Amino acid sequence: MGFRDRGVEIKTPAQIDSMRVAGLLVGETLELLRSSVRAGISTGELDAIAEDNIRSGGGVPSFLGYGHPPFPGSICASVNDEVVHGIPGERVLADGDVISIDCGAIVDGWHGDAAITLAVGEIPAEVQTLMDVTEGSMWAGFAAARLGGRVTDISHAVESYVRAHGHYGILEDYTGHGIGTAMHQPPNVPNYGRPGRGPKLELGLALAVEPMITLGTKETVVADDDWTIVTEDGSWAAHFEHTFTLTPDGPWILTAIDGGEERLKALGVPFGGR
Ligand code: MG
Ligand code: MG
Repeated sequence: MGFRDRGVEIKTPAQIDSMRVAGLLVGETLELLRSSVRAGISTGELDAIAEDNIRSGGGVPSFLGYGHPPFPGSICASVNDEVVHGIPGERVLADGDVISIDCGAIVDGWHGDAAITLAVGEIPAEVQTLMDVTEGSMWAGFAAARLGGRVTDISHAVESYVRAHGHYGILEDYTGHGIGTAMHQPPNVPNYGRPGRGPKLELGLALAVEPMITLGTKETVVADDDWTIVTEDGSWAAHFEHTFTLTPDGPWILTAIDGGEERLKALGVPFGGR
């Protein structure tokens, strides 16, 4: 492992393999939560399911105790107009809600970080479209990542995809990030902007790409709990995230169960997993 300018951490292939172990645990935990989300379950119950799965899988929840004030959950559970960083607790999900679940785990010192937005029962068509556009923009970002390219090639691809699909708010105050021996490392990976800027995309770099998209404004406020980020105008939001790297063969989505193979191939992008 070494560091480039601006603190960018470059991993060896063996270290990337270790990150895959953490990534898989995160991906499996999110799949377990996907099958658990229903009307009547509380976000605190989802948090307990996640923590149990992470610990029984040999990991440590990376969100628990993170930051100031220390984050009290193992997942972020953000409902409806909450975009990210929602604190899990007493809130009970109801039919028609959407919940964004962000999950992070550490295994042997290596981090994985991923998020999904899920519908609870029947949701309005425009909210389902918001979710689809947000997830699609993340995959457009992976598809734009090439060895020798630049970090904002991803940013530009995310924004272009979102803009091509309608009028949405793209958060600018929160971004994707480098990841490895810490959850949040340089460089930032914005979800907007011109291509061809930022650090070079090279072997051993791992990034979390995480578009946060709303049906209205890009402006947000921090709730009284000092954590939950809600839209300023009350519009609903979606958040998808995966941790990924580039191998000589292409992108490898470390937090996707199949490494991203199916989605990448559907986009005509070579799969870089091993
Ligand atoms: Mg995350
Ligand atoms: Mg993240």
